[in-house]
This record gives sequence, structure tokens and C-alpha cells, in this order.
Amino acid sequence: MIPFNRPPFIGTEKEYINQAIDNHKICGDGEFSKKCHTWLENRTGVSKALLVTSGSTALDMAAILSEIGPGDEVILPSYTFVSTANAFVLRGASLVFVDIRPDTQNIDEKLIEEAITEKTKVIAPVHYAGVGCEMDTIMDIAKQHGLIVVEDAAQGVISTYKGKALGSIGDYGCYSFHETKNYSMGEGGALMIREEKNVDKAEIIREKGTDRSRFLKGMIDKYTWVDMGSSYLPSDINAAYLYAQLEEADMINANRRASWDVYYEMLTPLAETGRIELPVVPEECVHNSHMFYIKTADLDERTALAAFLKENGIGSAFHYVPLHSAPAGKKFGRFHGEDRYTTNTFERLLRLPMYYGLGTDNVEFVCEKVKEFYR
Ligand SMILES: *Cc1c(COP(=O)(O)O)cnc(C)c1O
Repeated sequence: MIPFNRPPFIGTEKEYINQAIDNHKICGDGEFSKKCHTWLENRTGVSKALLVTSGSTALDMAAILSEIGPGDEVILPSYTFVSTANAFVLRGASLVFVDIRPDTQNIDEKLIEEAITEKTKVIAPVHYAGVGCEMDTIMDIAKQHGLIVVEDAAQGVISTYKGKALGSIGDYGCYSFHETKNYSMGEGGALMIREEKNVDKAEIIREKGTDRSRFLKGMIDKYTWVDMGSSYLPSDINAAYLYAQLEEADMINANRRASWDVYYEMLTPLAETGRIELPVVPEECVHNSHMFYIKTADLDERTALAAFLKENGIGSAFHYVPLHSAPAGKKFGRFHGEDRYTTNTFERLLRLPMYYGLGTDNVEFVCEKVKEFYR
């Protein structure tokens, strides 16, 4: 049996969790949370990284920080996880979906400008599979129209675009450390804040709307309720699990990359004969091997291939039901322009097993089975 996913575990997690317990500090912002913050800041160059309880709550916080509300619009792809949309729906904003590119499955940057109205406040690009969106174009559009950029970099931790870390380019970046992501703490995430001027407000929102973090830094002598907020801090026990992996991030990445490269190489002949399509990574992007996917000819072929792999003990997965065709998507948003690739990608894309420790033997076995299916 080769499962589709297995949560990352390298060994030191247990030791660090014990340390967190021995520290008698298991709530948020203990020793391990701080180590994770520093690691993320050093690695990406943002002014501030804050651990939160999930990628979804990182997006929620970014939406609050954007001061988006009823009557405002956010531009996002329809081909994404529900959390990208929910964050803005929770603020009362309307969703404007645009189509994706057929090569990276990322938002088509060339379609963004025509979707802008006087109500547009935020652009929320999603870095699918940890491959960067065309960020220079997106940042130029945002600057020209005075828009805020919230990067859904849930899948893009340690990936880069023109040398810059995904999640550090827009105003806010949102990482996920869910067990299905490259680095994990079970459930968790991080909000990445590019500019110093937005840090205070983010810390207040994350600390239940209080200025407790200023108090803890000794800047004030008592803390009080100053703005809206909630509790977005994860336990230091979870942060301990994550820190063990961040320390070994490059080793984990190299392990995933080895699997990704074997998939790519072994499946290239099928792509050359036009049977399947392989992922495209633009030159300016360095990706983190978050996933390996192929595109089949159509829905029937994808369904048959997934069933064939399952018969052979291989897990696979597909996603995302296009948000604009889901009940909530219809209620809270509209698709601008033509759906040329969103539904098409949903029907044809199949994700193959990918996790730390998968091993190239297993990847070879999966590739042999895919080839057998096409024979
Ligand atoms: C995983 C993911 C999220 C949500 O992250 P959670 O930590 O599960 O809340 C959001 N957006 C994308 C694109 C994701 O892949």
C-alpha cells in the first residue's frame, strides 16, 4: 500500500514536545513558537511571522487586516480550497472569480485587470502546488489600482519567485502547517506580514483584540481591549512539532524533490506522446515539490486511472470542485469572464502520492502502474 499522504515526522519532534512540556509553557508564544517565528522571518525576510491555528485562520486574519467588508470585492481563482474564499465571505465581501492558467493552474494574471471594479479591494492569488503566481504582474496591478494583495501560500512554504519567498511578496502571506503540507504541526499556519507598519495591528487581532503583545514587550504597563480580534495562537506543543521540521526544512525538501524528479522523468515519455500533461514550473519559480500531479485526457480517463491505481494499492486524489459552481460560491460570488480552464482542470487533474519519506522505489512503482494503465 502506498498512501496518498503521510504527515511529516523526522524524529526530533518528540524530544521538542517533551521540552515544551518541561518548560511549563504550553500556551501560545512560548519558546518554540518564538523559534518558529524567527526561522520564518530569517528565511523569508518579512517584518513579522506569526504562528496561527491554521492556514485558514491566517487567511481570516489577513482579511480582517485588509479592512475588507460588505460592498467590497476580492479577486481570486475559483480553482482553490474553500478557505481562500471563506476568509473574505466572513467579512461580508463579495467574491469575483477569474480563470486559471492551463500550465501552472494559478490565477491567470492577464485576466485580473478586467475583473477590477470600483469595489475591488483585495487580490488573493493562490500559489498552486507551491509554484509561484506571476507576482510581478499582480503586484503592478495592485499598485496601480491601490489594492491589497493577500497571498494564499498555504502550499508554498520555502518556494520562491524571482528569488523572493512566496508569502513575502504581497502585503500578507498565509502559510499552512496542516498534516498534508510539507511542514506540519498537525493543524496550524502562519501569517506573514511584509511591512512593519502592519505588525502592531496583526498582533492585536491575534491576541483577542488586546495590546497584550506590547505589554509583554514591556512597552506598556497594563493591557486592554483596543480593537476587534480573537484567539489565533497555537499551543507551543504544536510549535515544538513544527520547529523540529523547520530546522530540517532543506533536508525534507530535498527528499520530496527526489520523488518529484523521478515522477517527472519517468512520466515524460507519456507526456511526449500526448497521453498526459505534466506540471509546468516557470523559469522564475523554484518550487517545493508540494505535489505531483498529472492531467489526463478527460474525466472518464481520470476516474478509470484513479480506480486502477487503487486496485494496485496506490492512493491518489483530485480537487477542487470549482468554487463558482459550489452552492456557497454561487451565493457569495460570480465568475468574471469565461471558464476555459477551471472546470477542465478539476476534471482532468490527478494527484499522485507525495510525502516526506515516500522513497524513489515507491515512485517508480507508481509510475510503472500509470504506464501500465496507458498501455
Ligand atoms: C491547505 C490549504 C489551505 C488551508 O490550510 P489549513 O491549515 O488546512 O486551514 C488554504 N488554502 C490552500 C490553497 C490550501 O492548500
